[in-house]
Amino acid sequence: MSKADGTIKIGLEVHTQLTSLKSKLFCSCSSDYRGKEPNSVVCPVCLGLPGSLPVLNKKAVEYAVMAALAFNCKISKRMFFFRKNYYYPDLPKNFQITQYDKAGGVPLATNGYLYIGEQGKRKKIKISRIHLEEDPGRLVHLGPIDQSPYTLVDYNRSGIALLETVTEPDMNSPREARVFLQKLRSVLEHLGIFDGSLEGAMRCDANISLAGGTRVEVKNISSFKEVERALSFEIMRQKGLLERGVAVKRETRHWDATRRITVSLRTKEEEQDYRYFPEPDLVPIELSEEYINKVRSMMPELPDDRMKRFMSSYGLPRYDAGVLVSSKALADFFEECVKLYNKPKDISNWMMSDLLRYLYENNLELQESKITPEKLVEMIRLIDEDVISGKIAKRILPKIILTGKPPRKIVEEEGMMKITDRQVLSELIDRVFSENPKAVKDALVDEKAVHYLIGQLMKKTEGKADPSLAAKMVNEKLHSIKKKT
Ligand code: ZN
Ligand code: MN
Repeated sequence: MSKADGTIKIGLEVHTQLTSLKSKLFCSCSSDYRGKEPNSVVCPVCLGLPGSLPVLNKKAVEYAVMAALAFNCKISKRMFFFRKNYYYPDLPKNFQITQYDKAGGVPLATNGYLYIGEQGKRKKIKISRIHLEEDPGRLVHLGPIDQSPYTLVDYNRSGIALLETVTEPDMNSPREARVFLQKLRSVLEHLGIFDGSLEGAMRCDANISLAGGTRVEVKNISSFKEVERALSFEIMRQKGLLERGVAVKRETRHWDATRRITVSLRTKEEEQDYRYFPEPDLVPIELSEEYINKVRSMMPELPDDRMKRFMSSYGLPRYDAGVLVSSKALADFFEECVKLYNKPKDISNWMMSDLLRYLYENNLELQESKITPEKLVEMIRLIDEDVISGKIAKRILPKIILTGKPPRKIVEEEGMMKITDRQVLSELIDRVFSENPKAVKDALVDEKAVHYLIGQLMKKTEGKADPSLAAKMVNEKLHSIKKKT
């Protein structure tokens, strides 16, 4: 399922909260709503009470323009907001203030793109448009959405600024969709306008079609961890239908992350059902060339440039640099490590192989783990100082990630220091030799059997014997046997 397949077409509609804003999009309520008493971070504006008037958050426009520049978009010079009308319990006004690309409307920016890198190959994903809109409130269900006996509504999230990004159907596998979301997140995080580690800060809807067939929309994908799963399920479902000769229905399906299936929600509304019309309570936005240039001059380093810098300053291969900048947290972690210990290639190797593999296999984010740059560097120093072998480091790394214990402490507590004591090793080698008489005989003429004996010694010491000393001593002992015979 992870292979790119030209007959699979995936387009994404990504909603990201501009989490660095202090207040909501159209009122002065705090944007810091997480963990707050339900319906406590609200005011007449974000509750949609009659007579209340929205006022646009200027900083939100600046952030959106930054995103537009980072996505290589064409920025609209003059635009206004629209009302998207629909009735839903989480939408207190019965309409959402958003932007629209028809009826004289233009979104904030159009015609952009981002490159995603997979296995050293670059692929362009076109971005049709981005715009600003307000987040609805949050519905809380008991268990699965289609089985909950009731729905609770919390308006704290209502009015939070969202950036909506719509792509062309340029992705050909669930894996590519995941990589795109990661890239999007990394760019927004580098801009300093978004923190993807916050629960619900990035939500994604996907439309997917197979072999030029009907498009199905999958809603409620809560993170890029889920996107691969949800889309893989949906491909399997649609393939199953097609194989049985059943037509795929045009509909909206809901991703149930608990049961890991998509369920039919409703047949898709037509656009006219939303009765879009211009929002009369907000003035048009005008963005001058000077303003856009000013924002451009404040742009920080973005992932693609950072990747090039990682290659030129630290001598990393393109692939490694690309993986590291795929997440701001990962790239920051790497640079912190290098500051502490100037061995970029070693640090990158440990991050790329064992650290990332562990996180990926356990579906953990770096921020969710307990490892810090100090701890990773301490582990690498223990290897360089000959206290532990690389093998032992591989064994303690998961413990550092899970417990956050200092590597030196783990090594001491579990007695994992390298055995470099000749006396101790010599006794162990004697035992290995007496337990493996045939191998000893073979080892006098066959190099392979020598390795076998060393392997047995490593096994006996649980990998703690100093590998080069162990090899040296085994060979010495074989030599003395040879002399005697
Ligand atoms: Zn408010
Ligand atoms: Mn939207």
